[in-house]
Amino acid sequence: MYQRKRRLKVEAYVDGVLNGDKIILSKAITLVESTLESDHLIAEQVIEKILPHTGNSVRIGITGVPGVGKSTFIESFGKLVTSFNNKLAVLAIDPSSQRSKGSILGDKTRMSNLAIDPLAYIRPSAAGSSLGGVSTKTRETMLLCEAAGYNVIFIETVGVGQSETTVKGMVDFFLLLMLAGAGDELQGIKKGIMEMADAIAITKADGDNKAKCQRAQREYKNALHLFPPSENGWYPNVLTCSAIDNHGLMAIWEEIEKYSKEMKKNNFFFSNRQFQNVEWMHDIILYSLKQKFYSNKKIANSIITLEKDIKNKKIPAISAARNLLKEYQQT
Ligand code: GDP
Repeated sequence: MYQRKRRLKVEAYVDGVLNGDKIILSKAITLVESTLESDHLIAEQVIEKILPHTGNSVRIGITGVPGVGKSTFIESFGKLVTSFNNKLAVLAIDPSSQRSKGSILGDKTRMSNLAIDPLAYIRPSAAGSSLGGVSTKTRETMLLCEAAGYNVIFIETVGVGQSETTVKGMVDFFLLLMLAGAGDELQGIKKGIMEMADAIAITKADGDNKAKCQRAQREYKNALHLFPPSENGWYPNVLTCSAIDNHGLMAIWEEIEKYSKEMKKNNFFFSNRQFQNVEWMHDIILYSLKQKFYSNKKIANSIITLEKDIKNKKIPAISAARNLLKEYQQT
């Protein structure tokens, strides 16, 4: 029979996390990721207690299509970041993990050097039933990592879907990794994602690929020029790098440092985080309402009938939705 794991007291989680104890940190994250209501109650108390110790980090979103070199980049760039004595936590938003349970980042083996770095903490991506659920877990995980002293946070996501918007909503700096392709440079990735980027790095700028990357760099620079300026006054730069040759990584780190400095000076850094926190609350409300609605047994039954009625044109979708919401209010 399934046995529930023994839980620690709230104070034990809080003390462990604040002392930077990786084992307790992992246990606290497990609570956050748990599907048990009882675990959530403990997790919420832990988060509330550690909250004053959060926020002291730079949160960096890293995205790009599969194969662009994200894990290789994170490993090399991560080693650079920890070489300056920064404590680095690497997390992921991976909506595909619902299916695979594995994830873009679950496999520490892909980042074996970073995984054994005492200054780094790699957490496999949370699996969840929806992007909303996964992102809430990742945000809470991020807070726990900050309270444990991690002052640089990477949040990785695959550049194929809406998870970029979610990640953009929880980070300070959004780094888009791109490949130098022949010809159609802008095809691979949606324009909207490029507009979100605070910097673009063209990966694999080594060997024979170097010249192609420099060409792509010029083309992307031109493309970014056409975008409207950002409200914070930041002009995204396009850089090239090689995670294998360790080329260009320092310039990316310097770009992030420059961004943090400038955005702190003009206050955008803090106002953006305030905005993100308020948005987060609304996300949680929407997510919780949706969960409650769809897990209601009466509603689930009515939905089956009404879906058929919609298909058979017996009822318009709007009326069906109204009926369901009315029914839900009465439960
Ligand atoms: P991900 O799917 O975005 O995580 O990409 P990976 O990090 O797994 O890399 C995909 C492939 O590109 C692998 O075969 C890597 O060895 C290769 N790769 C990654 N970074 C570089 C690089 O800087 N230079 C070169 N030449 N190959 C790279």
